[in-house]
Amino acid sequence: MKPIYYPEPFRIKSVEPLKMLTRAERERKIAEAGYNVFSLASRDVYIDLLTDSGTGAMSSDQWAGVMLGDESYAGADCYYKVQENAKEIFGFDYIQLVHQGRAAEKVLLPILLEGKKYAIANMHFDTTRAHVELAGARAIDCTVKEALDTTKYYPFKGNMDTDRLEEHIKELGAENIGVIIMTITNNSAGGQPVSVANIRKTRDIAHKYGIKFMIDAARYAENSYFVKQREEEFKNSTIEEIVKASFEGADCFTMSAKKDAIVNMGGLIGCRDKAVFELVKQRCISFEGFITYGGMSGRDIEALARGLKEGIDEHYLRYRIGQMEYLAARLDEAGIAYQSPVGGHAVFVDAKKLLPHIPYYEFPAQALAIELYLEAGIRACDIGSYMLGNDPDTGKQLEADFEFTRLAIPRRVYTQSHLDVIADALINIKERASSIKGYKIVEEPPILRHFTAKLKPLG
Ligand SMILES: *Cc1c(COP(=O)(O)O)cnc(C)c1O
Repeated sequence: MKPIYYPEPFRIKSVEPLKMLTRAERERKIAEAGYNVFSLASRDVYIDLLTDSGTGAMSSDQWAGVMLGDESYAGADCYYKVQENAKEIFGFDYIQLVHQGRAAEKVLLPILLEGKKYAIANMHFDTTRAHVELAGARAIDCTVKEALDTTKYYPFKGNMDTDRLEEHIKELGAENIGVIIMTITNNSAGGQPVSVANIRKTRDIAHKYGIKFMIDAARYAENSYFVKQREEEFKNSTIEEIVKASFEGADCFTMSAKKDAIVNMGGLIGCRDKAVFELVKQRCISFEGFITYGGMSGRDIEALARGLKEGIDEHYLRYRIGQMEYLAARLDEAGIAYQSPVGGHAVFVDAKKLLPHIPYYEFPAQALAIELYLEAGIRACDIGSYMLGNDPDTGKQLEADFEFTRLAIPRRVYTQSHLDVIADALINIKERASSIKGYKIVEEPPILRHFTAKLKPLG
């Protein structure tokens, strides 16, 4: 019996035409881009899976909100609306608008890390790690070991390893740890969910040692949907109830609204402690803008207020996660390995398994990303040794734990036929996998090289 996937709970009112290049044109474009997908012009891409961040399609209601956005400097209508919606959804008294997730980190983390040496997370997202380090602390990751085996089923591969967390606290000294962070879903582990039981246990450990507990909430709605599917206690709960249970007792949260709030730009900070919130407001005024707009235009705030509600709609989430499950099932049929079970916002294809003849220092996940572009105009990206870069001390290429080619799916943008194109392209690539060659880097900057490096095919 074929499983039933959940179709789009919307119809299309406005379309954005896509150009379809020939294979010869794509060969030329990728060569001109130095075999770096970040250097491709988006007009030369047919299906853009570079990221799900800020790339979603807004609803007709959100677009109507754009026109109604109040652009007053202070106390705009849309400010009150976003406050009301966020307080209702997250159960926090103090909410601050900022322009995106890393702005929330820039404002909040230095407050939590003042005089401290460490932050511990189930896994820090890149920008979170950067802001921990900019605040003078070190970021320690503590994901469950089940996340490392891509083919083994485990319902909550995003979880914190709570035994290891407690060992770290004892070893490093609770007084040196400024914050314990739970990233939901765990983006860097493959968009993998975290159970509410694990959130509660982590929160209780943090509080037992007097450490602040923060949620990085970029994909809190997708996480809540997985909890409903996989955690017995919540099988009859609404998404709203699961969100409340997830945030209960957390001291603060940061959120990139460019993901689950389905807007192109926006972010939030939530706090429970009034003293912390006073500092947040001061820093927000210096870095982002006055507290009632926080670096956003009124129209964007209005769209965010509406998107917060749309992002937790269960029909939408069933379709959203259903898209990942559909694509994953097509890869299962074809014997193509990925971080399994599939996560909430992307399929992380295991390039090490698909291209076993390409060693890590010839970048198998980057090679697969380039093949996807050549095959069907699909833009994906490397989450592997190419992205990891060189050892800063020795200058030698580091070997990543995973060689993933990430297919991030924008929200409400691509149809099931697009997903079929992606699956068919991967199947075609698998058939000729042994003839695919690795790459070498011919030009690279010292840091964050994957955005701008130039490469050359080997052989
Ligand atoms: C995207 C993201 C961020 C940063 O948000 P931006 O809006 O891109 O600045 C932080 N944490 C996680 C988990 C994210 O996915």
